[in-house]
Order: sequence, then structure tokens, then C-alpha cells
Amino acid sequence: MPVKRMQQLGEVRSVIREQFDYGMKRKQEIGEDKVFDFSIGNPSVPPPPEVTAELVRLLTEADPLSLHGYTPATGDRAVREAVAAQINAVHGTAFKAENLYMTVGAAASLSAVLSALVDREEEVVLLAPYFPEYTVFVQTAGGVPVVVPCCEADFQPDFEKLAESITEKTRAIIINSPNNPSGAVLSEDTLRKIAALLTEKSAKYGKTIYLISDEPYRELVYDGVTVPFVTPFYPATVVCYSYSKSLSLPGERIGYVLVPSEMPDFAAVYAAVCGAGRALGYVCAPSLFQKILPYCGTLTADRAVYARNRELLYNSLTAMGYTAVRPDGAFYLFVKAMEEDANAFCEKARKHELLLVPSDDFGIKGYVRIAYCVDTALIERALPAFEALAKEYQHG
Ligand code: PLP
Repeated sequence: MPVKRMQQLGEVRSVIREQFDYGMKRKQEIGEDKVFDFSIGNPSVPPPPEVTAELVRLLTEADPLSLHGYTPATGDRAVREAVAAQINAVHGTAFKAENLYMTVGAAASLSAVLSALVDREEEVVLLAPYFPEYTVFVQTAGGVPVVVPCCEADFQPDFEKLAESITEKTRAIIINSPNNPSGAVLSEDTLRKIAALLTEKSAKYGKTIYLISDEPYRELVYDGVTVPFVTPFYPATVVCYSYSKSLSLPGERIGYVLVPSEMPDFAAVYAAVCGAGRALGYVCAPSLFQKILPYCGTLTADRAVYARNRELLYNSLTAMGYTAVRPDGAFYLFVKAMEEDANAFCEKARKHELLLVPSDDFGIKGYVRIAYCVDTALIERALPAFEALAKEYQHG
């Protein structure tokens, strides 16, 4: 008999996967262009051309043994030096290779960091709405997720509720800005308040409460919005970063954990991240994709398509009577379902061949997520279906 919990995790698909798989089947039945699949956050623009050029250069010019060989468990030293310099150039920080641990995307970064920091039965605060896999990662690390809803007017934290939720059992809080699924970006003021609260609570309970900042969408912002860099606000911050979305490389599994030197017990925390990476088997992140980073790490795939899609979708849907907070970043629109039960709403949407994700697994009820990392033409074709769906509710 395998471990029951793992069996269940393997058998029960996430609601995102479930909609995506249904979409694949439906496309075979009625034709690719008749299904409006907004289920999954798979980037719809190619990686920057420099990525392909650098891959070709490495594959043709670099020594294949070192190119494809094991790197150090923490990642290639020259790569970590280059990535640290890139972060420093953008954010005015002073990181070194020793602050970085290369990993297999943000999922591995989060899993390793949670395993490194959270002991059995310790609580990890999740601000809803949140990326559904957080609950899986926290529980696998032995922790207990504690869900705290954000203010629905702007999806910024509700500080009263957040303060109440932090107890002597709290070990960490996960933030994600720009947010999947709301698209909200945490402002400097919000980060200052989070830092003040965590400083106060850490002192009160005589322990460090860590801030885990999950940042796969850091570069995907619109209308000149900036995403404040988190570590200067609170030294006990660990950054989990991924190139999946910024470079459109989700299948290549490359990212990093960043532990600032100002972190209390820095050496112990960094060692614990290395230890967790070792225990979980996340050592030696893909060598080829590590090695493109010195040349490509600061590039971003073309955001113009996402910016256009966001405008089109937000303006069209709100004109039809849908309610949504205008997203500042990522590539999701989080829309209020037109009935209380978001699952029932998604079922009705399916009848119009619209594949949306109900919000329950994001820790909040009554919304749907629309991933607009798709061809603009798909959105244009889908608008009549969104209109017909809205009319079902508007005319009883
Ligand atoms: N965190 C958030 C908020 C995400 O949306 C995703 C993926 O969609 C991940 C983490 C996992 O990213 P990766 O593909 O780099 O593992």
C-alpha cells in the first residue's frame, strides 16, 4: 500500500488541471477554435529570441561534459554570481552567490523553503486568494495552513484579520505579488505594514516569523506599476523566484531561492535551504538553463500581448456587467461569479464552451479566475460567449 495522502494527491487533479484536460477533450470533439480555454497559466508568448540564440550558442560552442554535467548542489557558482549581480543592478541590493540556491522553478523553491523553515504543526499564514498548491506544499512540510482573507475591494491584506491570525504557532507567512489569481500588487505601504506586524509578533512570541515572498510574476506588471523588492523591508524574508513566466520557460524548471545575509541566523537558514533541497532531491537545477541566465536572466518575454489582453478582457467584461478588480500584474483576471456558487457558475460557463477556474481552491468563494495568457484572437472569439453567459443571469 502506498502512502494514502500521496495517493490522493496523485488521484485528485487540481481544478485547474481538470478544466484544462476537459478543454483538450472538448477541442477534439468540436474543434480547437470553438473552445475558449482560460484555465491555465501557461505563457502564450515565446521566450525572448536571445534565449534561443544563447541555447544554440551553448549547445554548439560549450564543452558538452560541463554543459550537461552536475553543477554544485546549490547551482553553478558563476551563474549564482551573475544572478546576484543582476538582482543588485535592478534593486540596489548587495547579494552574492552565497545568498542564492538555484532550484527547479518556484514550486521547488517554495517546497524547499517550507521544509527548511517550518516544523511539525507550525502554522503558515496564506493570504487568500492564493496559489492552490501552497496548501499542498505547507502540509507536505508538516505545517498547517492558516487562511486569512484579503480585502475584496483591492485584494490587499486585511490587517485586522492578519494580526489576529498570527499566534505563537505561526512560523511564516507567504505573500505573492503580483498575485495569482487576483493580479494585485502589494504596495510599499502594505509591505511596511506587514514588516511592522511581523517584527512586533516575532518580538512578542520570542521567535522569528519568516516572510516567504513567492515572485514568479515579478516582471509582469502594466501601466508603469512597480513591484517593490521585499527584502529591504523585512530581513527575515526568503524570496522564491522562477523564470517560468518572465522568460516563458515553465517547462524548463528553473528558478532560485534567495536568502539575504541580514536574515537572523543567516548561515543556519541558508544551510537549512540546502539541506531541504538535498532531502527533497532538488539539487543541481537543470544545468543548461542555469547557464543561459548570465546572458538572459534580466530579459522578459513580450508583455505587450498580456497588456493588450488585460485591457480587452477587463473593459469588455465590465461593460457586460461583470465585476472585477483591475489587475496590476500577472496574467489573470479575477471576476465575481454571477451566482454565489462559483462551481455552478463555471458549469454554466462550460455550456458556452468557456473554461474558467472556480475560486474555492484559491481559498475564497464566489469568484472565477480567467487566465488571459492566450491569443488575443481567442478572447475576441470568446466575448459573445461571455455576453451570453452574463445575459442568462441578467434576464433571470
Ligand atoms: N507560485 C505561483 C503564484 C504560481 O502561479 C506558480 C505557477 O503558476 C508557481 C508558484 C509555480 O511556478 P513554477 O512553474 O516556477 O514552479
